[in-house]
Amino acid sequence: MRRTRALAIVLALSAALSRTTSADTGSPAAPRHFAVHAAHLIDGKGGPPRGPVWVVVSGDTIESVRASAPAGLEIMELGGATLLPGLIDCHTHVSSRPGVPRLERFMSGAARNAIAGVVNCRNDLLAGFTTCRDVGGAELVDVGLRDAIVAGEIIGPRLQVATWALSMTGGHGDPMNGMDYHWCNDLESGVADGVDEVRKKVRFDIQQGADVIKILATGGVLSPGDDPRHTGYTFEEMKAAVDEAKRLGRAVAAHCHGKEGMIWASNAGVRSIEHGSYMDVEAARVLKKNGTWYVPTLYVVEPILAPDNPLHILPENLAKARVVRDQMHRAFRTALHEGVKIAFGTDAGVFPHGDQVREFPIYVREGMTPMQAILTATRSAAQLMGWEDKVGAVAPGHFADLVATAGDPLGNISELEHVKWVMKGGVVYKDELGK
Ligand SMILES: [Zn+2]
Repeated sequence: MRRTRALAIVLALSAALSRTTSADTGSPAAPRHFAVHAAHLIDGKGGPPRGPVWVVVSGDTIESVRASAPAGLEIMELGGATLLPGLIDCHTHVSSRPGVPRLERFMSGAARNAIAGVVNCRNDLLAGFTTCRDVGGAELVDVGLRDAIVAGEIIGPRLQVATWALSMTGGHGDPMNGMDYHWCNDLESGVADGVDEVRKKVRFDIQQGADVIKILATGGVLSPGDDPRHTGYTFEEMKAAVDEAKRLGRAVAAHCHGKEGMIWASNAGVRSIEHGSYMDVEAARVLKKNGTWYVPTLYVVEPILAPDNPLHILPENLAKARVVRDQMHRAFRTALHEGVKIAFGTDAGVFPHGDQVREFPIYVREGMTPMQAILTATRSAAQLMGWEDKVGAVAPGHFADLVATAGDPLGNISELEHVKWVMKGGVVYKDELGK
């Protein structure tokens, strides 16, 4: 059994390598055909758990999901494990170096962030995240990482990236906050003011490779000098961003803490509200009416507020995080109660990539069933990203993106904090099931 799996990994890795070397000719290696067997399956679509199951994989795609062993196929044996779709994080920052003090951040450039990004992407994948929506980075490191993963040069999740997040002057994404403007006047950033500049910045981001547009619709927690409750754009500016993005086939993700900015962003037509800290019943009902997704990011405040300040957060930002923490939990319970659509997101990159698995138990502690929590990172996240035909489910025609846990995550959600086996596109990247 063990030998079969080890052999499969070697084959898969060599397939990945040959795919890389043949990228310029456009002729991929011959598709592999095999079946993954496990005792239990959670399909990511909300169906009841079932098993035993054989997932037949052809190349990078799931061909069929069967209740009996297919004849004549190599079997990848996962024994008593529980299979799930590869997990999806809808709020990451892959080009971010967690815990780097602000000054040091200004002293290092894109190359350093890109190297950190290679490690971040690897850690996301090995934690079980085979798809991520990356909502903001600088200097196109996110685009480079996305494309290098597609080319098979580095390992990581499938990525949608946002490039520069749009911010008003003095807003959450203005790098000049707290700085004398003489020192940083030429910084490329996502700062855009007024309807025309907003439209132009959306066009610029898309020109440079953005799959999704991120706007900073309220102030933030980790930015100096602003207030999470204040709006970060006027309604007209938000509407301009949404219209321009929509015209060019992109959705908009809106960073929102404050209630007013959240309601404006939802009414302007953004696809998702990120953080949503000050959501109350009134705001939740606006989101529900408009069909706006809510991406909670509850775990991130824990490492921010951890003893001895391991992430080197400025004192004024620690104070904001303390206030926002309770608000976020209240907002989550309100959204759940009001039936707002919730997709899994974490802000990984503020804290080390891979640790975002700790988001799951918080959802359960705050009122979700384990199945609901799993669906936020599978079916719902795929729907939010517009990739529901490709990822987020163990179903024919979907990418062969699968993870396995040793125990039952429906009985103990923390099983997802220790994903033991990871496959992406039919390639096994992690196998610790025997350990
Ligand atoms: Zn973020």
